[in-house]
Amino acid sequence: MNNSAFFFQGNNLLLPAGVPDTQMDSAISLDFAREFNKSEFDQIDVFEIPAVKGDRTITCVSLSPEYPLPAAWRAVPIRQGISLLNAGLTDGGPSIAYAQKPSIGRLLRAFHIAQWRRESRFCGSCGAKNTESPGELARLCPVCGRQEFPRISPAVITIIINDEDKALLAHNKKFLSGVYSLIAGFNEAGENLEATVVREIREEVNINVRDVRYIASQPWPFPNSLMLGFSARYASGTIRADGVEIEDAQWFSRDALPKLPGTGSVSRYLIGRWIAGSL
Ligand SMILES: [Zn+2]
Repeated sequence: MNNSAFFFQGNNLLLPAGVPDTQMDSAISLDFAREFNKSEFDQIDVFEIPAVKGDRTITCVSLSPEYPLPAAWRAVPIRQGISLLNAGLTDGGPSIAYAQKPSIGRLLRAFHIAQWRRESRFCGSCGAKNTESPGELARLCPVCGRQEFPRISPAVITIIINDEDKALLAHNKKFLSGVYSLIAGFNEAGENLEATVVREIREEVNINVRDVRYIASQPWPFPNSLMLGFSARYASGTIRADGVEIEDAQWFSRDALPKLPGTGSVSRYLIGRWIAGSL
C-alpha cells in the first residue's frame, strides 16, 4: 500500500484539519486512517487501485455514507473541487489546449472506482457477495462466475453555431438561476456518438444540426460519466425548448452573453473556444 491515500464518503472527498480545498488533488497520509474505527467492518473499505501506464498506484479509504466523521474532518463535494482545481486551466481560447492535470485525473479515477466498489459488492446476476477478481480491477462472483468491471457511461455535450456565428445556449431546470449552457445527454445503446448529438438536440430544442465534430472530453464520474464535447452547425428548424429538461434556449452573440457555467467544465471550455473564434 502507498503511504498516502484519498478518503471518500458519498460524493465527497474528506479532508482533515489543516489541508486546504486547493490541495484536494493530493493524497494525504494514510496514517489519518487511524482516526477511523476499522472494527466497523463493511463501513470502511481500504483498497489500492492499480496504476494506469506511466502513473502510480492509488490507495483509497472509502467510508459508508452512514459513518460519522471524526471531529475536525470536513467533507468537500468533489464536483465543486473540480471547478476549483481546474479554474484558469480550461477557460478556452485558441492558445489554451484543453488538458486535465494528471493529479485531477488520479483523484477522479480514485473517486470513480471507490463509488463502483460500493455499488458492486453483490453479484448483479445471482445476488451472491462478490469477491475480488485476482490480477485485475474487477469483481468476481464466486457462485456464478460473473465478472463486473468499472463502468464508464458516455455522454455528449455540444456547442451549436449558426450562420450568424451565434451559439445556442440553453437553461436547464437543474442549472442555477440565469445560467445558460450547452445541450447534453447520454448515449443510448446501439447509437454512435454523432447520432446521440443529433438526437439530443432534436429532442431538447427541436432543431437539426450538421457537421458534428468531436472537440474534447472530460471524465465526469457523478456518477460514472465521460463527457464528450462536440461542435455542430445549425441546419434547420425553429428553437423550441422541450419544457421538460430545457426551460429556455436562445441564440446568443458574443457581445450579449448570459451567465455561463463555471470554469473547469468542458462546457465552459467549448463556449470559450467559440468566444475566441477557434471553432
Ligand atoms: Zn453471481
